[in-house]
Amino acid sequence: MATRAFKFDTLQLHAGQQADPANGSCAVPIYQTAAFKFKDFHSAELIASGKEPGFEYSRISNPTMDVLERRIAALEGGTAALAVASGAAAVSYAVMNIAQAGDEIVAAKSLYGGTYNLFTSTLPKFGVKTALVDPDDAGNFEKAITPDTKAIFVEVLGNPNMDVIDFEKVARIAEKHRIPLIVDNTFATPYLFRPFDYGANIVVHSATKYIGGHGTTIGGLIVDGGNFNWGNGRYPEFTTPDPSSANQVFWDRWGNDPVLGNVAYINKCRLHYMRDMGAALSPFNAFLLLQGLETLSYRMEKQTSNALRIAEYLEKHPDVAWVSYPGLPSSPYYRQAKKYFPKGASGILSFGVKGGFEKAASFVESTSLFSFLANVGDSRSLIVHPATVTHGQLTEEQRRGAGIRPEQIRLSAGTEDIDDLLWDLEETFKKVFHHNG
Ligand SMILES: *Cc1c(COP(=O)(O)O)cnc(C)c1O
Repeated sequence: MATRAFKFDTLQLHAGQQADPANGSCAVPIYQTAAFKFKDFHSAELIASGKEPGFEYSRISNPTMDVLERRIAALEGGTAALAVASGAAAVSYAVMNIAQAGDEIVAAKSLYGGTYNLFTSTLPKFGVKTALVDPDDAGNFEKAITPDTKAIFVEVLGNPNMDVIDFEKVARIAEKHRIPLIVDNTFATPYLFRPFDYGANIVVHSATKYIGGHGTTIGGLIVDGGNFNWGNGRYPEFTTPDPSSANQVFWDRWGNDPVLGNVAYINKCRLHYMRDMGAALSPFNAFLLLQGLETLSYRMEKQTSNALRIAEYLEKHPDVAWVSYPGLPSSPYYRQAKKYFPKGASGILSFGVKGGFEKAASFVESTSLFSFLANVGDSRSLIVHPATVTHGQLTEEQRRGAGIRPEQIRLSAGTEDIDDLLWDLEETFKKVFHHNG
C-alpha cells in the first residue's frame, strides 16, 4: 500500500486511529473499563512483563488514551506520548521523571501560576530546586546551569504577558550542557509551533486549553521528542537497572525501539511515575480531548486572527494604557514571534486599563460575551484579572517578579464573530469609564 506523510489537518482527524475491528465504529470508541481480560495465561505473562504490547489496566494504558497519545505525538513530530489527568500532572511528571532529590532545574520566571508554585514550593520539599531566570536574555539560562541541573523548562508564550523566548538559542545551550529542553506548548499548540523542530526534547501540554478547546475537560499530555541521549552519563536512572521494574534498564530497553525509535523517556514516565503516582486520564475525557483535536487548526486560526484584531483595537483605545501581544508590530517580541509563529501569535493577550486596579476589577465583571473565569483556549471568549485570580496565590513581590500588574486584564479570544467581540469590549469601556454621561 502506498504511504504518505499526511499534513496537519489530516493528522488531527486520523493519526493514531485504526479501523475498529469489533464493530466498525467510525468515531474512536470509549473503552470505559478499568481492566482488560487476558486471552490466556501465556499472553498474561507476556503483557504483564512488558515483553508484548497489550492492555492490562487503565492506569497504565487504555485504547482510547492510546489514540490520543499517538495523535498528539504525530502532530508534535515526537516518537510517543503519555496522557495524564491534567496539565499540572504533565508538568510534575515531566520534571520528576528526570530530577530527584539534590537535582536542579532552570526555568523561565514568567511561568503559569500553578507551575510557579510547583517549582518554588512543592518540588523543593522533595529536594528538587529551581533557578528562575529572566528569559529575555537566553544567556541567563546558561549562567544558572550547575553540574546538578537536569533540565531547562520554558513556556512557549509566557502567561499572561505572552513573552517569546529565543528557542533556538536556549535549545543550543541545553544541548551544549547535555540536558533536555522541556517546553510547555499549551498556548501555541503544535498548529502554531512545533518545539521539536527547534531543538526541544520534551513537550508538555495542558490539554484543558486549546486541545480540548471547548472548556469541558481537564487533561494533560507529555510528548517525547525521541531526540535526547539519556545514556550521556548525566541520567543514571536511565542506565542502571530499575529494581521496581524487574531490573529493566530503560535506556537499553527503549532507547532504540525497532518500531518507535527512542521512547526511553516516555516509557520510564509511564512505567514508573504513572504506575506509582497514578494521575491517569479517564477514557471519557480522552474521547473529549480527541473531539477537540479534530478541529484544532480551524479554531486556532480563528482565535489567533480574532486576538490580533482585538489587540489592534485595544492599542488605539483612549482608555487603554498598554497592550501585550507579540503579534503587534509595537511589541518587543514582534520579530521573534514572526520567526517562531508565522501563522500567528495565538489567541491570548493582556492589556492594562487606565485607572488601575479599580477600573480593571469593574471591567472584568462587566462584559457580556467574554466570560469572567480562570481558563484560556475555550471556543468561547474569556476574561480574567491575573493579579487576583490566576496569580492570586503569589505574594505582591512574586507577582511583580512574574510581571503581573494591578491594572492588567487577560483575554482569551474565542471563535465568535469579531464584530460582536469588539462591540462587547466597546460597550464595557463605555460602562466602566462612564462615557455615556
Ligand atoms: C493551565 C495550564 C497548566 C496547568 O494545566 P491544568 O490542565 O489546569 O492542570 C500548565 N501550563 C500552562 C501554560 C497552562 O496554561
